Amino acid sequence: MPTAPAVPLVPVLLVPVLLLGLLAGPPASAAPAARPATATAPASDPPATARAAADPRWRFYSADRRHYRSGWFAGRHRIMIPFGCTRAPYYSPDPRCSGGRGFHHGLDVAMPCGTRLKARIRLRVVGSAGLGPAYGRRPLRLRSHRLGVDVVIGHARRVRVHPGDLVPRGAVLARASDDGAPDGCHLHFEQRALGGGLSSAMHPRRLLALRR
Ligand SMILES: [Zn+2]
Repeated sequence: MPTAPAVPLVPVLLVPVLLLGLLAGPPASAAPAARPATATAPASDPPATARAAADPRWRFYSADRRHYRSGWFAGRHRIMIPFGCTRAPYYSPDPRCSGGRGFHHGLDVAMPCGTRLKARIRLRVVGSAGLGPAYGRRPLRLRSHRLGVDVVIGHARRVRVHPGDLVPRGAVLARASDDGAPDGCHLHFEQRALGGGLSSAMHPRRLLALRR
């Protein structure tokens, strides 16, 4: 008969050690300072059903009156200006569009000021230089090498992340605001090629994954 190995003793010894660890709570160094995006959200979010918080400045250039969820934001909200040719007056006439309409390079989702913006996927924050004042003072440019896309988000405020940060899925990035927006609080979601300019913008349909 083989001799009993010493290995089964190890879990027996570990149990009291683990129990002591649980009682003592996590060590003070458990929260890595290099990942501020994982900080928990304050409890001051507007409720998901805050229809009463509708912004009187909103103007909807979409026949779609449904409210959508997405991993990018808290709550359910309406599309304000879709991607592509639009009657919205904020854009110069574009040769791609008939009737003097302009071209919207992203998709605007109307949401009450302060609504949480979250990372739907794991992303790297990259510099947002050159985006211009139309995106607000703190636009976000986020990169997914896995998907091969950049995500540009306009009208954010209280931005918690910085260029170089690797942001885990679900992390709160910022809040929706009206910074740089004449038409009330909303977020502008734009999908570009990796490192690409405005001309590389494409419909962010799959990226946003809006659902009812
Ligand atoms: Zn927009």
